[in-house]
Amino acid sequence: MRHELELKLKNKYPDLFTDLMRPEFECGAGWVSLLDEVFEELSKYGVSIRLVKEKFGGLVIYFVANEEDYEAVSSIVSRAEARSYMICEVCEKNGKLRKEVSHIRTLCDDCYELAKSNVLKENDNG
Ligand SMILES: [Zn+2]
Repeated sequence: MRHELELKLKNKYPDLFTDLMRPEFECGAGWVSLLDEVFEELSKYGVSIRLVKEKFGGLVIYFVANEEDYEAVSSIVSRAEARSYMICEVCEKNGKLRKEVSHIRTLCDDCYELAKSNVLKENDNG
């Protein structure tokens, strides 16, 4: 994700990013609105975000939460992670999980076509 998008989210929800490790968001810009929504919800709880990344085509959020908030936080995060499989990671349009690209990703039809043609080009080059 572009650094300025990431900074915008971190500055909007400073309580979620108090950790000195300063996690980088390892995912595409298509999930910015999804992250914004989930951070908004999470900011009501005692939780610190450790890592935001794409893994096997879906969003993964690692966090540390207060014991009394853990269950609520965990269910918010699980819902967001499940929703990511329906949102193109590149452009935010409706997407689905694609396995026929160089690595498994959630993409819309357009981004999927582009990714496939890039894979073909890579294969042509040997
Ligand atoms: Zn797309």
